[in-house]
Amino acid sequence: MICNNCNHRFRGNFCSQCGQKAEVERFDMRSIGAEAYNFVRSIVVLFFQTGYRLTVSAPQHLQTFLFKDRNYLLPSIEYLLFSGTVVSILTIKFNFFQTGYNQIDPMAQMLFLSTETFIFLNHFFAYTEQYSSLTNILSIPCFTICSYLIFYKEKYTLGEHLIVNTYIAAQQALFLLILFPVILFIPSWKGYVLDGYIVASIGYNCWVYYGLFPEGKWWSAFKVAVCVFLAYIVGLLFNLCIYSLILPYKKLIDPFV
Ligand SMILES: [Zn+2]
Repeated sequence: MICNNCNHRFRGNFCSQCGQKAEVERFDMRSIGAEAYNFVRSIVVLFFQTGYRLTVSAPQHLQTFLFKDRNYLLPSIEYLLFSGTVVSILTIKFNFFQTGYNQIDPMAQMLFLSTETFIFLNHFFAYTEQYSSLTNILSIPCFTICSYLIFYKEKYTLGEHLIVNTYIAAQQALFLLILFPVILFIPSWKGYVLDGYIVASIGYNCWVYYGLFPEGKWWSAFKVAVCVFLAYIVGLLFNLCIYSLILPYKKLIDPFV
């Protein structure tokens, strides 16, 4: 038999060179339906498995994914795009964050900022809340570089750090998704829930780093704290740069202008 794909001569049901099927089935509505169903089902099942695994025991499961089985978790970018997109739609549709708009007031007065800077920063923080998914995604490279440099001794590659930090960001978005019904149905709890969420996200990030990069109990804990703190600062500065770049278009993007 001659392969339809690579013209290799072979016997049996599959091409021995490229794996192409000997006979290609014709499409009919039934086969299309079955294919679509299997595709959606496998993605949905893997999505829930990934969510569960990264909630109960992220460090071990990430190691399994990185070093043993690539089908063990939904690919990081798909996982991030899915949870990030759903969170973006919900936060924008339901004006999720807009309560904490003036949260930097006391800090600005303490730091003796000028009125212009103060207003600029207020707009910037409103923007980071409104577009929290976008700012989180833009922070991933900052977290990657920080964790790569600080845990350099652990011999993870830069790419592996990127994958780990992408999963962390996606998982943080997923946690917000889980809290969403609480905020929607009990609006008076919103402030507490969001504060708790921020603390939990930071805690989650620390827990994953601590589990993945063990360098001795206290030393590791110290490095994790430094790394997460530094990464948040770098991420904030990076987002501030991006925000300054898009400032000329801010009427399009800033809901408070
Ligand atoms: Zn072939």
